[in-house]
Order: sequence, then structure tokens, then C-alpha cells
Amino acid sequence: MRVGMYYSNNDVRVEEMPVPQIGPGELLIRIEASGMCGSDVMEWYRRDKVPLVLGHEIAGSVVEVGQGVRPYKKGDRVSASHHVPCNTCRYCIRGHHTVCDTLRQTHFDPGGFAEYVRLPAINVDRGVYPLPDEVSFEGGTFIEPVACVLRSLRMARFEPGQSVLVMGSGVAGLLHVHLAKSMGAARIVATDVVESRLEAAQRLGADVVLSAREDVPARVREVNDGWLADLVLVCTGAKSAQIQGMESVEKGGTVLFFAPTDPGVTVPLSLNDFFFRNDITLTTSYAGSPADHVEALELIRLGRLRVEEMITHRFGLTEIGEAFTLVAEARNSIKVIIEPQN
Ligand SMILES: [Zn+2]
Ligand SMILES: [Zn+2]
Repeated sequence: MRVGMYYSNNDVRVEEMPVPQIGPGELLIRIEASGMCGSDVMEWYRRDKVPLVLGHEIAGSVVEVGQGVRPYKKGDRVSASHHVPCNTCRYCIRGHHTVCDTLRQTHFDPGGFAEYVRLPAINVDRGVYPLPDEVSFEGGTFIEPVACVLRSLRMARFEPGQSVLVMGSGVAGLLHVHLAKSMGAARIVATDVVESRLEAAQRLGADVVLSAREDVPARVREVNDGWLADLVLVCTGAKSAQIQGMESVEKGGTVLFFAPTDPGVTVPLSLNDFFFRNDITLTTSYAGSPADHVEALELIRLGRLRVEEMITHRFGLTEIGEAFTLVAEARNSIKVIIEPQN
């Protein structure tokens, strides 16, 4: 089979690999659509593991079923999680599934940018999501990113009626805008430096969009009846956005950092400014739990989230290099889908 082998953002090669052999409890999936994620182009994060096949937002059909697997059968349309938790460690029991050691070690073989993937038994056990007829393969690729954003809003203790500032309007930022809107945010302000992304934010539910080059805290006050934002969701690794985000939160509010910085970046923090008498919560969120994936699929199925509107580009596996360049540039693309069978 063909795979997209990642060496660096500018060097992704189409290579041949044997179709994975499955064992008892495992599934072989023929990938029809595979979403690209901002984390796929975080070179520093991938550098120590290359070459490797990326792709963790998949949808496809079951083509081979290992001994003892229930309830899946040949021909089932599914999405699946690459990372799955153990559900029994101290972190899982306390609801922090995404810091589980098992979650961090589990993955597809070889990865979603391939014609076929093998799902190990633990993934089959707790990380397969059958797609209802009304959810397309492309819709199915959004289950994982939407799950991550559902967890993020939960960790940020989002409540209807809050004013929300989303810093950065790439896919993650746009999903935060769209979900916060559908869950009853009072006013949503979104920022970015790219005009087309601000237009997308507006279409998906932002009440106000701002250039990130403006004085964001001052502009938030102007458009939010004199108040800063109850909830700030920082969806870009840019240090300037992290600093402006922290300056834009109202007393009693929360800042959630959804995107990592480059390694070694630190941001100065005055404990008195944030906590003493101001009651500001700073927090982060990474990945999603199995329950978040189930909820994400349900929201997509019901049409509560218009995820397919975010797709701007589709590429066959042969053009995967171009797809990585486009996503790394982070300019005129929003969601990029790889179709490994093309
Ligand atoms: Zn992702
Ligand atoms: Zn665990």
C-alpha cells in the first residue's frame, strides 16, 4: 500500500509499505478520508520520531475483522481514536483520561495518511465509532477534533451566557467558536491575522472579529459593554496571542491554553495580577476522552455543527507534500482532507 511518510514539513514522501497484518481482536480499516491537524505540522514535536506516518483524524470502512472482535463486521463505516486511555489508572479514574500513560502510548499502525491502518485490540475495544448513514466519511474525520474542543470547553467550565474570546481562527479556533455558539455563549469575539479565517469565524458564529494585530483587550472592552471576556480560549501557539489573551480576561474568568508554544518559550506571569483578588483561572486542555468522542459524533450527526463547511482543500495521497506545505503556511487553508485512495 502507499503511505505518506513524514520526514519534515517540506519533505513528505509517498512510499510503499506492506498492508498491516491483523491479529486477534484487531481491525483493518481502509481509509477513505483523513483530516490534517495543526499538530501534524509541529516539526519540533515530530522531529525525534521521523520518519513516520501521521494522521489521527480518520474515517473509513472495516475490511478485515480479527478473531473474537465484536460487534464490528466487514463493510462497517467507522471513525476511530488513535489514542485510547486505560480507564483504570489514577488519572483516568479522576477524569483526566488524556494524561493517562496508556493514552499517550497507543496509536494506529502505521497512521491515517495511508491506504490502510491496523487498529490494535485496545483501540478496537474502546476507540471505534460506527458512522451513522447521515455522517459522511469527511464528517467522521471531525469526531476527534470536535472531541478535543468539547473537552476544552469542559475544562474551562464554559457556561451559557458567557462572553468568549477565541485567539486564533484556524480549525481549532473555529471549532471553539462554533461549539461555544451552539452551546449558548452570549458574545463571541474571534481574532486572527488572516482575513479569510476571520470571515470563516463570522460564518460559524463569531459576533465580532478582530485583527490579532490590534490592541485586543481594548477592543474586547469596546465590543463587550465595557467588560473583558469571561472566557479566553487561546488556540494558537503565538506568544503575542498568549500574552494578549491573558490581558483580555475579566475578573473571575478563565484563560485556557489549547495550543502548545514552541519548546523553551516562557511567558512572564504576575501571580498577584492573576490570582490575588482577581480570581482568574489559567488552565490547559489536550486531546479528548472516549465520552467526548461519542458526544462529538452525536453533535455532528444531528447537524448541530456544520463541520464540512470548514473543508477548504482535498488532496490524494500523491499530493500529500503539497497538503503539508499548505497547512504549515496556515494562510488560505482551513481544514485539509487527505483521501488516501486517490
Ligand atoms: Zn488533532
Ligand atoms: Zn489511564
